[in-house]
Amino acid sequence: MRVDYIIVGLGLAGIAFAEELNKQKKSYVVFEDNSQNSSLVAGGMYNPVVLKRFTSVWNAKEQLEIALPFYKELEKKFNSTYCHKVDIYRIFKTVEEQNNWFLACDKTMLQDFMIPKIIKNNNKSINAPFNFGKLINTGRIDVKKMVSDYRDLLINNNVFKHKKFLYNNIEFFDDHIVYNKIRSEKIIFCEGFGLKENPFFNYLPMREAKGELLTIYAPNLKANFLIKAAVFVLPIGADMYKVGATFNWKDKTKTPTNEGKEELIIKLNTFINCEYKIIDHTAGIRPTIIDRRPLVGVHKKYKQLVILNGLGTRGVMIAPLMAKKLFQNIENKIPLDKEISINRFD
Ligand SMILES: Cc1cc2nc3c(=O)[nH]c(=O)nc-3n(C[C@H](O)[C@H](O)[C@H](O)COP(=O)(O)OP(=O)(O)OC[C@H]3O[C@@H](n4cnc5c(N)ncnc54)[C@H](O)[C@@H]3O)c2cc1C
Repeated sequence: MRVDYIIVGLGLAGIAFAEELNKQKKSYVVFEDNSQNSSLVAGGMYNPVVLKRFTSVWNAKEQLEIALPFYKELEKKFNSTYCHKVDIYRIFKTVEEQNNWFLACDKTMLQDFMIPKIIKNNNKSINAPFNFGKLINTGRIDVKKMVSDYRDLLINNNVFKHKKFLYNNIEFFDDHIVYNKIRSEKIIFCEGFGLKENPFFNYLPMREAKGELLTIYAPNLKANFLIKAAVFVLPIGADMYKVGATFNWKDKTKTPTNEGKEELIIKLNTFINCEYKIIDHTAGIRPTIIDRRPLVGVHKKYKQLVILNGLGTRGVMIAPLMAKKLFQNIENKIPLDKEISINRFD
């Protein structure tokens, strides 16, 4: 078999890069071993405002300009729905926070998203004595469904290998590699936290953060917006909500824990007072980098090896733009911005 690219990992990063290759009529094969699941468990929210401090997310405008059409295109391609508009209601904790909200609303970058009003809480199931700040033009991507559709397509096209990629089996030649009889120009590693096992790139400083989420059934909550307080409560339809997420920098497993569940319940109960039933509990590891920026670029010594990782807590917004920049860099030699290039860690 002869291809232009091998992609290792079919999460948000792998799909974003595969789509670039489709557009440019490049051939590829994907290896995926289900060892990580960040994209599968993600809340899938996109939101350009940091809800703790009411500041703009790094590079948010440029990311959204690429990301939203990207997901719309995939909806068309698969004749499916992945994009759901969801407003965000941030519960104010104090009057000072209300004041800070109005100050932030004046910033040009945030004007399209932050409503300069205090939204009164009329929902008896929510405790919000200081009421809400409302964000619009935000939403959720059904990443799990999208990954599943994409995987099925690759299987149909005979370009999906449900196998662990074994780094030691790469044979290097001047301008290509051979891996288990597949000749390829390049390998793009999109392994998320799997990076830690990659001997070519695991020198890069990933500071992964495990996250746990609950799915609850709460028929009396009746919220068609995301509620953000100590945790978020995200409506996913049929009176179900995702509640999350924890941050744990010590536990490196993707196993849901009792501690994680307890933490989420305690935080949820501080602002929700209706009954609910826990339906599901999941966990995954966010591929976060020490400086909270993506990892993009070509290996210094082995030019056939390339990385697309470090999507951190915001893979939905970041992945499509990073895939585009990486492709332009590899194929058209357009330099990568310093803050995303892996060269910053040389
Ligand atoms: C609880 C939680 C909530 C989140 N909520 C949001 C959110 O609301 N919005 C948002 O934008 N982001 C969110 N994120 C972050 C988001 O999930 C990540 O940024 C993104 O999914 C990372 O995508 P990825 O493709 O880099 O990694 P992954 O999704 O982990 O994909 C990597 C893939 O590579 C495969 N792989 C690894 N090594 C190998 C190998 N050797 N051989 C074969 N396959 C391999 C893995 O099996 C995996 O499928 C959340 C994350 C968590 C954990």
